[in-house]
Amino acid sequence: MIKVAFIASEAVPFAKTGGLADVAGALPRFLGARGAEVRVFLPLYGSTRARASELSLVKKADFSLPGWRGAHDRFCLWESQRDNFRVQLIEQEGYFDRPGLYGTSGGDFQDNGERFGFFCLAVLEAMKRDSFRPDIVHAHDWQSAPALAYLRHRYAQDEHYKSTRSVFTIHNLAYQGLFDGDILERIGLPAGLFHHQEMEFYGRLNFLKAGILYSSAVTTVSPTYSREIQTPEFGCGLDGLLRHRSHVLSGILNGVDYSEWNPAEDGRLAARYTPDDLRGKARCRTDLLRTFGLPSGGRPVPVVGLVTRLAGQKGLDILAESLEDLFREKLRLVILGQGEPALEERLAAARDKHPAAFGLHIGFDETVAHKIYAGSDLFLIPSRYEPCGLTQMYSLKYGTPPVVRATGGLEDTVQEFDPAASRGNGFKFQEATSDSLLQAVRRALGVMKKADLRLSLIRNAMACDFSWDRSAGEYLDLYRRILAQP
Ligand code: ADP
Repeated sequence: MIKVAFIASEAVPFAKTGGLADVAGALPRFLGARGAEVRVFLPLYGSTRARASELSLVKKADFSLPGWRGAHDRFCLWESQRDNFRVQLIEQEGYFDRPGLYGTSGGDFQDNGERFGFFCLAVLEAMKRDSFRPDIVHAHDWQSAPALAYLRHRYAQDEHYKSTRSVFTIHNLAYQGLFDGDILERIGLPAGLFHHQEMEFYGRLNFLKAGILYSSAVTTVSPTYSREIQTPEFGCGLDGLLRHRSHVLSGILNGVDYSEWNPAEDGRLAARYTPDDLRGKARCRTDLLRTFGLPSGGRPVPVVGLVTRLAGQKGLDILAESLEDLFREKLRLVILGQGEPALEERLAAARDKHPAAFGLHIGFDETVAHKIYAGSDLFLIPSRYEPCGLTQMYSLKYGTPPVVRATGGLEDTVQEFDPAASRGNGFKFQEATSDSLLQAVRRALGVMKKADLRLSLIRNAMACDFSWDRSAGEYLDLYRRILAQP
């Protein structure tokens, strides 16, 4: 049985700001179902602690971290047994008991390098003291990448980790964890790693680079994104290194946890529905419009939904430029999101201008998200880049065809609908421009007007299967391959 240590900074239902949490919450269960023994390691945030009893968190042990030069050096290990895997959480109030996971609306926490260095080192120490000897350490994104630097540079001779191999998954290359070089010694790594062939990057220390350099294999969350990041356009300055590591780099598409995301069973919706009986979807639409305070009577007007972080990556500036033209198409727009204050303000100003057509909810709200996936007619994702994207997979399952920019995982999961053959599950546009977006939305609205085409499209969308089981199989194959290497 392969033993896997999953190191991540968020996982549902413990903590979530984006797609990483969905992945780290679901993939371990599917690896477990295929026979792997998985332990997931997370920080214990204040928001997680507040729900301790609901999550059946129990305190396990109290440790100190020898040789640590940061502000705090003790931690407690907490645990929650899930169906077929175990979650262990690192509690250190000084580092993790704060509002927000990585920062506040005012910006990132100043000591994020120290916080996540501590988290990673504590995880490796906890596994040793708990006699959990992983075959694979699977770390995710910059927050967990230091674990691979510690394994390579602190535990290389350690008996406990002598046969351990590692996988590093990049969920988003743009977030790299950049800090001043002098942090290295404080977090217990050799100062010599501040070198351009190691973790140094244009005068700063780059955590993500450690994941790429010191792992046995690197993955990204879709095949297309794994190719894109090797080009200057998408490489965020690391494309050269990624080309150099291309022999260990691959793309494995994320999946969907259909026990959470299924309109036939979703208790958050006003009604449930299946591809054969879509009456419930119409009720969800009315409920959605009411939720957003938009008019719901009269002849149905198409509803276009978005659930998104409000960040430059997500192409909301392209959407903002298109708004006047979109509203001329007589549609309703509903957006749930939070993020960059400038984007929040720009969208709020547009909503004030079109209060009967535009519903905006600034915030993070799982229930409203489910209502949008179900109650919209089309789902819009104008991303400039998208490593995988989960929202198009959810909207497909909820029979809400996505209109997407053809990039990354969106390219891999959405096929343009062909009315002549009734094939395809959505609509794609190539250029990151307002014109290109508008043309795709108009094509989609044209199809949605014709009842028979609309029904074929919705059924094609709902028939798509992105279950985690297939991806879990690909990860296990990768684990086995690297374990078989000399
Ligand atoms: P990313 O990880 O870049 O944010 P993904 O598409 O991979 O994008 O995952 C986004 C996840 O976060 C989805 O589960 C989506 O439903 C959820 N999400 C994003 N914004 C919100 C929000 N404001 N409220 C609730 N859920 C949200």
